[in-house]
Amino acid sequence: MSPQLNIVIIGAGIAGLTTAIALRRSGHTITILERHSGCQALGGRVGISPSGSRILIAHGLGDVLRKMNVRENVTNFRRYENGAILTSTGTQNMEDVYGSPHWSFSRYRLQKALAEIARQRGVEIRFSCQVEGIDEDCPSVILRDGTVIPADLIIGADGVRSRIRDSIVGGSIKPIVFHTSYNTEIPRSLIAQDPSLIHLLTSFNFWFGPGKEVMSANMPDRDDIIQMSLISRFAGFEPSIGKLLDLAKTENGFIWKLAELPSLKSWVSTSGKLVAIGDAVHAMVPYAGMGAVQGIEDAGSLAVCLEHLQKLADLPGLLKVFEAIRRPRAEFMMKVARERAVGLFLPDGKEQEQRDNSFKEHQIDLTDKNWDGKCSDDPPEGGLLSPLYAGYMFGFDVMDHVS
Ligand SMILES: Cc1cc2nc3c(=O)[nH]c(=O)nc-3n(C[C@H](O)[C@H](O)[C@H](O)COP(=O)(O)OP(=O)(O)OC[C@H]3O[C@@H](n4cnc5c(N)ncnc54)[C@H](O)[C@@H]3O)c2cc1C
Repeated sequence: MSPQLNIVIIGAGIAGLTTAIALRRSGHTITILERHSGCQALGGRVGISPSGSRILIAHGLGDVLRKMNVRENVTNFRRYENGAILTSTGTQNMEDVYGSPHWSFSRYRLQKALAEIARQRGVEIRFSCQVEGIDEDCPSVILRDGTVIPADLIIGADGVRSRIRDSIVGGSIKPIVFHTSYNTEIPRSLIAQDPSLIHLLTSFNFWFGPGKEVMSANMPDRDDIIQMSLISRFAGFEPSIGKLLDLAKTENGFIWKLAELPSLKSWVSTSGKLVAIGDAVHAMVPYAGMGAVQGIEDAGSLAVCLEHLQKLADLPGLLKVFEAIRRPRAEFMMKVARERAVGLFLPDGKEQEQRDNSFKEHQIDLTDKNWDGKCSDDPPEGGLLSPLYAGYMFGFDVMDHVS
């Protein structure tokens, strides 16, 4: 029988919570330390594509999460200056093609549900616990109030501004900020009064222009507002954007830095008792909708790797296997997200016209009907243009791959 570990996870975000649930299944003792006093409410919706939902379902979360999923009609990509739809996508048929659904959640409700399930399964979650340091020799975690918590394994799921990552790489890694996004809420009742805006109540919309973007999204847990986010100046956008901003509630705004990380030297410390996961090691800009999904894939993969643990001394080697398996895929997603961002923010001109024409000619089809169900283990050469692309993005079964 494999040894049961005392595992401390730092951070109760999507990566930390799903990892706790996945590892708890093997009987390990799990404690999550979260600096905030509860799950964070900030951030609107989060989409979980099939490679992530497959893992959540495998860990027995399917029934609860299916009920929380909010069906989205359509996502429109629009030209900033006139609102013309360049291309539209839908996620409804993804389950038929990839064998697992695409889900859309309120970020807050998802995290709250994951925390509740983790607790029901015996995970201890300690809120208002800010981790200040790690002692790898013991090993142990040191809290702000001086409390020392020993552990066999420490997992840093502490997000893009991770301090645990610094302990692993031996220096401070600064996230690269791509854009600053200003977010606000707009009452649905006011939008409903304007016939030129009413269509925004039933769709998810992006307007892209040179270095600028506006997004309007329905909120999965709110029937009174839509969320609007804005990058850069809004001058030059079609008139409905100005109208929407006039309707915005000023008191509920927040700012989000959209950032990515460089490729790190290592995800595992030299002692092999400390590993970082999620945004702490592979934060990406949100244009592939894959950041949280990669954290969930970390959870599923780490659980499968640790099933092979026969003695404590195996741990460093298994963590290295985990990193070797996960890194190419996570870094591929980072690259896809960055390339999409660059493509969507092109300055007006020839390249932008070519992009818009190709959008019109090839409507984005997230369900590649020709997909034969096979996935390459390695990221496909040629990225978006590769025939293996959609299967690798969405059809990938990371737990099967690790096994
Ligand atoms: C606008 C936007 C839209 C997005 N949309 C999608 C999407 O549709 N699909 C998708 O897959 N991804 C999406 N993402 C990405 C996704 O939100 C992130 O990848 C994901 O939430 C990261 O989860 P995490 O658990 O790794 O980190 P976080 O959510 O950042 O959690 C880290 C946790 O660690 C805690 N913490 C930090 N330091 C300490 C400490 N010292 N002590 C104790 N606790 C600590 C923090 O308080 C936090 O709760 C989007 C991102 C953005 C910005």
